[in-house]
Amino acid sequence: MDLEVVTVGTELLLGFTLDSNAAEVSQAMASIGAVVTRRATVGDDRAAIRAAVADGLNRTGFVIVTGGLGPTRDDVTKHAVADVFDAPLDLDASYLEKLERRFEQLRRGPMPESNRTQALVPRGGTMLRNPKGTAPGLWLESDRGTAVMLPGVPHEMRWLLEHEVVPRCRERDQTRQGSVTRSRTLRTTGIAESKLAVEIAALEERIAPVTLAYLPTLLGVDLRLTAWQLDSDAADDALERAVQLLRPVLGVNTYGEGAVDLAAVILDSLRRAGIRIAVAESCTGGLVGARITDVPGASDRFAGGVISYDNESKTRDLDVAESLLDEVGAVSEPVAQAMADGVCRRFRTEVGIAVTGIAGPEGGTEEKPVGTVCFGVRLPSGCRTLTRWFPGGRSEVRARAAQAALDAVRRALDGE
Ligand code: AMP
Ligand code: MG
Repeated sequence: MDLEVVTVGTELLLGFTLDSNAAEVSQAMASIGAVVTRRATVGDDRAAIRAAVADGLNRTGFVIVTGGLGPTRDDVTKHAVADVFDAPLDLDASYLEKLERRFEQLRRGPMPESNRTQALVPRGGTMLRNPKGTAPGLWLESDRGTAVMLPGVPHEMRWLLEHEVVPRCRERDQTRQGSVTRSRTLRTTGIAESKLAVEIAALEERIAPVTLAYLPTLLGVDLRLTAWQLDSDAADDALERAVQLLRPVLGVNTYGEGAVDLAAVILDSLRRAGIRIAVAESCTGGLVGARITDVPGASDRFAGGVISYDNESKTRDLDVAESLLDEVGAVSEPVAQAMADGVCRRFRTEVGIAVTGIAGPEGGTEEKPVGTVCFGVRLPSGCRTLTRWFPGGRSEVRARAAQAALDAVRRALDGE
């Protein structure tokens, strides 16, 4: 089943509200094998809604609309969709009574006249129960096609989607019953998108019919594998096969699947090895420690850390020799190594990670431009250092550096 989504709200067009509803509708539909082929956003404007819904019906015969079902004057979705279906609006007396009772029960005084519009139903339509709020959903079906209207408030929309819309779509779409569109995501970091693409280009044909999408973020590149409109077992098998083909090629560049966090991965490695970690942070100012302590249960593997920002602190708190700082500068691999050694001694841990770099916007030189970051990783087996150059502004460099620090630990523990 193909369908289109129309999200309604001037605040969406102005960019004040992010259109999360459209994404959630797409995901829910994919989970039952229905494909959203187009999404449109329009303002709270009767003619614009009418046009978007009519276009969607002409192309696919099925449109889900969210927003504009509230009681205020700018909520005109119901009227616009009724226009498209040439359906007059009838007052549902029993729903009106329910609404009035709700106002009484919540001691909100007499129901404002404006709420009456929420009891209007386009003729031939069905109300979809909304226990989370006062605006019911509406399902309208005729030879014009099917339009489903859902309230804009995200948690109300979500409830209706799950409990009313998905089951009805499943039932309706007999021909494809049981088919799903399902995805799995392999997470990579420390390798550029273009380089990744070169390494796995040859596999793209072999994993068919599973498709591959590259999703770069500040933290790395996620590889989303999608199996389209297969029955549930076939989708799982195809995805598993694709993952098995990709994993060996990705090797150490992938750190896990789904929503897994890199910090959780290294905590697990530390647990397996029975060792603990401490952090020494200059340019990341605590971001690495924050990433690690975001993971529940981190305390059994994370001893603590030092934010060592100026040179004096590096000497005083981490025992970095003043002469070394004078000789090679704070942003250097030897200083990163000395910081990692220092923090291990201080916290009595087997593993230490140190970060020192230039986050910008000032402080760059020709030799060490903004974005230059040095890392030191101390392990029981020795120390390793590396330097990376990150693009972007200050917060981007810092976020990338924190991720790279965690990745350096992961690769070191992996024995890469
Ligand atoms: P409405 O049903 O249009 O009165 O919207 C009620 C609330 O839901 C408002 O706060 C909107 O900003 C929010 N909302 C409406 N549409 C969306 C959407 N597509 N994504 C996220 N929030 C939305
Ligand atoms: Mg609105």
